[in-house]
Amino acid sequence: MSIELSLEYFPPKTPDMEQRLWRTIEALTPLNPRFVSVTYGAGGTTRDRTHATVARIRAETMLEPAAHLTCVGATTQEIDAVARQYWQAGVRHIVALRGDPPEGIGERYKPYPGGYAFAADLVAGLRRVADFEISVAAFPETHPEALSPAKDLDNLRRKLDAGATRAITQYFFDPDCFFRFRDRARAAGITAPIVPGLLPIANFTQACSFSQRCGARVPDALHRRFAGLDADPAARQRAAVETAAEMIHALVRGGIDALHIYTLNRAELTRAICAAAGIGPSGAGRVAPSPVRAVGD
Ligand code: FAD
Repeated sequence: MSIELSLEYFPPKTPDMEQRLWRTIEALTPLNPRFVSVTYGAGGTTRDRTHATVARIRAETMLEPAAHLTCVGATTQEIDAVARQYWQAGVRHIVALRGDPPEGIGERYKPYPGGYAFAADLVAGLRRVADFEISVAAFPETHPEALSPAKDLDNLRRKLDAGATRAITQYFFDPDCFFRFRDRARAAGITAPIVPGLLPIANFTQACSFSQRCGARVPDALHRRFAGLDADPAARQRAAVETAAEMIHALVRGGIDALHIYTLNRAELTRAICAAAGIGPSGAGRVAPSPVRAVGD
């Protein structure tokens, strides 16, 4: 079967990082992604850098860029103006998010005065600005602030009803948790594509600490796999590639036809994962289901 791939980048902070990002974008272009998305820093801190990166991708490559946009720290008029600039620059795809509180994940979220309160409101606002393709976030393990899994699913439905066409999930390390979520969404009548998000484990300690804050469970098997590898970068890289490739194979066996990779702007790791999973480099990714066991099995 073939996989529709999308790749996520973050906007560079320094000229060095910018060069590295462009080398990464170039190196991963042969994977033929359906779109490449550029994140929007927490608290809206990267607004200009996100815009510059997305506009440059539009102007200088054949890739389809998708700009992440959040509700944080701006009024509806300011956000609508950013969206209009994107449309004028030829950008047709927005990943519409609420964003996390500027004080950090886990702090209490307060809607910005005069701003869009939640992602569903932002989606509705973007629809009024122009005919964007809109992707939204979904949470297989339930968003940490949601009142219940059912209410979180209602929220996903509201975002899709407001005009989003696809959900991209928060990363997870147990494929079964994605499948259970997809089944619940389908049972609740949600028919839009739900694209699994894959986080390569470039740094296990950091991945664990971030997962704790965003509610992604790290299976014991992963702790065992990465134990004792701190001083061995080559072994860590091998473990990261094997873990991700096993996840992809498990997801393919479960019938996914699209995959979003949080690349962390790392060309070599992303390429190695795709190669190990049988994705690309020419044309749409082709992945042969493999008998390997997934990490969460
Ligand atoms: P929402 O859909 O608004 O939901 C947030 C929470 O509020 C949920 O618990 C929901 O159940 C609840 N809720 C929704 N509506 C209501 C209501 N009316 N009343 C009460 N509760 C409600 N963050 C960034 O800052 N920049 C990025 O570029 C970025 N990219 C991301 C990309 C992906 C694919 C994903 C999965 C996440 C990304 N994030 C990004 C993180 C995201 O902003 C956070 O996870 C955020 O906490 C939730 O965003 P959301 O769009 O899902 O919010």
